[in-house]
Amino acid sequence: MSKIGIMGGTFDPIHYGHLVTAEGVRAEFNLDYVMFVPAGNPPHKKRYKITDPQHRYLMTVLATVTNPFFEVSRIEIERQGFSYTVDTIKELEKRFPTDTELYFITGADAVLEILTWKEVDRLLAMCKFVAATRPGYEIPELNKKIAEIEKTYSQKIFLVEVPAMAISSTDIRRRVSEGRPIKYLLPESVEYYILKNNLYK
Ligand code: NAP
Repeated sequence: MSKIGIMGGTFDPIHYGHLVTAEGVRAEFNLDYVMFVPAGNPPHKKRYKITDPQHRYLMTVLATVTNPFFEVSRIEIERQGFSYTVDTIKELEKRFPTDTELYFITGADAVLEILTWKEVDRLLAMCKFVAATRPGYEIPELNKKIAEIEKTYSQKIFLVEVPAMAISSTDIRRRVSEGRPIKYLLPESVEYYILKNNLYK
């Protein structure tokens, strides 16, 4: 039986926190590999300006290129309309052998909103969820919410604490716009990509 991680995020931009999370979860859950899925048109970000999906996809490719256990999918970038996770997992399920176990890895904040996601019952039945937290996160509060979700849907949600998630995409975007350094927060190739394409100015 294969076990595959699906790393979902907007990745605007991808940084070391995401990479450390994916590698840590891969090792802890003994996953065959992790597929990064940059969100195409996230439904919960209708009111925010997000960077063109092609840029976010290319930055994700640059950041993951040195890890043989990482790959990047264009599945959401190429799909028309909003990127609902349930549609992505349904499509991916068709591509893998039937006994494949899928682990959807994302931020704890995102997982806490899962009850508002499209077809949440179906989604929780199709894959296991791994929620990454950053330092300073209110863990008891989070555990309470997760216990509620687990009780309602009889599905386990795994929580992983990732110190490297102290890095955040929001902070990186702010730093670039203020002309402050982003070096060592993300791979150098991504840093140069941001500078070359004048992103986040
Ligand atoms: P977000 O709301 O921008 O992020 C929430 C928090 O999680 C942020 O602190 C973020 O940090 C962190 N985070 C995001 N992706 C992560 C990852 N892969 N690993 C570790 N931390 C992560 O969330 P988002 O990135 O837009 O969405 C996360 C995933 O949930 C995406 O795959 C999205 O498509 C899915 N989603 C689906 C629905 C739906 O189907 N209706 C609704 C909402 C989200 P950074 O800002 O530093 O990344």
